[in-house]
Formats: sequence, C-alpha cells, structure tokens
Amino acid sequence: MDSYLIGFDMGATKMLCGVLDDKYQVIVKNKTRTKGSGNEAVFSTICRCIDECLAKLPSDGPRPSGIGIACPGPIDDVDGVVRSAPNVGVANFPLRRLLEERYALPVRLENDVNAGVYGEFVAGAARGKRHVIGLFPGTGLGGGIIINGELYSGATGGAGEIGHMTVQTDGRICGCGGYGCLEALASRSAIAKDAIAAAAGGDAPVLYAEVGTSLRKVTSGVLKRSVDGGDVAVKRIVERAAYFLGIGMANCVNIFNPQLIVIGGGLVEKFGSEYLGVAERVMRERAMPSLADAVVVAAAELGDYATVIGAAARLFGADRP
Ligand SMILES: [Zn+2]
Repeated sequence: MDSYLIGFDMGATKMLCGVLDDKYQVIVKNKTRTKGSGNEAVFSTICRCIDECLAKLPSDGPRPSGIGIACPGPIDDVDGVVRSAPNVGVANFPLRRLLEERYALPVRLENDVNAGVYGEFVAGAARGKRHVIGLFPGTGLGGGIIINGELYSGATGGAGEIGHMTVQTDGRICGCGGYGCLEALASRSAIAKDAIAAAAGGDAPVLYAEVGTSLRKVTSGVLKRSVDGGDVAVKRIVERAAYFLGIGMANCVNIFNPQLIVIGGGLVEKFGSEYLGVAERVMRERAMPSLADAVVVAAAELGDYATVIGAAARLFGADRP
C-alpha cells in the first residue's frame, strides 16, 4: 500500500480522526467535541475534524486513499446512509455520498462496535487470530464477531448484538425491551444504577461523597475510586456484573468456539484483572471444557483509537497487511 487511510469515529460526545499508515499505525490524529445537532451541523463538524487532521500530514508524504467512518447504531453500507443516530443528532444522513463528493475518495461506513473489534483484530489484542469475539461493556454492551478472518454481519447487517443475549430470564428490563439481557446486567450503566441505589441507601459512602446520587456522573473511574476507597457494596456490584459477563462469554464460547475473546472499554481499563479475572473464571466454569481450553481472554490494547483503526481497515478488508 503506497498511501494512507483515514479512519473516523463519529461518537456521541467526541469525534476522533486518524490517518493510518500501511501497518495500521496512527500517524496523525485529531479530536473534536461533537457539537450541534442536525445533519448539516454534524457534517461540518466531521469535515473540520478531518481537515485539521489532514493539515498535520507532511506535505511530501503519501496521500490518503479512502475514508472509513464508524457510526453508532446499525449501519447499512449498501446505500451509505446513517438512518438514525439520535445520540449524535442525525437521521437519514447520506454521509457516504457527502464525503465522497467533498474529498473525492472512496468512503465506507461501519457500525462503531464492529469497527472497534475489527481494529483490535488487525492491529491490537486479536492480531493474528481468525476466530474472535469482542465485547465492549460501557453505556451499553456492544459486541462483534469475527469468523474465519471476516467480520460477521448477518442477513441484514445486524449481527453481533451480544449485549442483548438473555442471561437471566426474569432479570431487569433492558433498553431493547427484553428482560435480563447481558447489557442490562453487565454494562457500566447497569453497574452505575445499582451503585447509586447503594449510595442512596447509605451502603456506599465513598461513592456518595464523590457523586451523591447523580447517575450520569458514575464513570468507570468513579466506580474504581469507590471500590478502592472501601465501598464493599460497590465491589460486590462490579463482581456481579463481571459474573454475568462471564456467563455471556461462556455462551459465546459454546456457540462460536473462538480463539480469543477481547474485552474493551472503561471498566476493563480501570479495573483490569479485578474485573476481567472474575469474568474469565466464570466463563471457564460454565463453557464446555474442550472449547474453554481453546480460548484466550485478553484486554483490548488500542483504547479509543481501536474504532478509528477498524473503520479505516474495513475500507479494503483483511487482505491488507
Ligand atoms: Zn436488550
């Protein structure tokens, strides 16, 4: 490959842009806050973020040969339109056509979680593996499936909703309308709800001192400080979430027989093995032994830029080095 690729993550709070070399290393990067609402305002924010990133490139180097964009929500790349991304403030947004017209480069849209898993596959913790499951517990619980080196998208592009696997049939209601989904029990949002209930009941004084009962202030870092500060109730809540994550992982292992499960997001970054170790132990107890023996569990390596790298890598598929 004698040119660079542009990867872009259209997130609800921030937008990330990176220019990648032929080894999927990020050569230059740029970040901007997601501002405004509506297709036009969001499009101008995207273009400004890309333009600022391109301006950092040395003028005598290779030029980009395509743009990969990661978007929240289900993506239909057949027509290149973002149907609905309410957190970003766009709907029926013909992003691929708009970008192709402005930059005269090929453009590909990808779901953001799939892009993140794909980024770890080409350049991160899942490098060199062919059968990979990715799980990203955060506000929701996103998942991605790589089978025989290919991202699996299903009949209509919607595959990989691992967060909506039922793990407790009479469990709490989920945003999708189901009950006891993995996301409703193991996402950071689920942990935050239980932790705030504990704080309100007087069982998590360290957490209460930092955020009161404000649910939206409960980041992974806040949870970590609460546990380190001695909030036993919050420690139990995090371990319970890790237990359910392990149940979900065991189901994935039994169905897909992956070589590697990569887990990313703020909880993994802050809690490390305290969280991942519990999930892995439960997975190994619950999955079929011969399949559990074949799988490695790893923390994601690329952080926020996994999505940028994956979006760019999806432009031309896994054949690139
Ligand atoms: Zn659900």
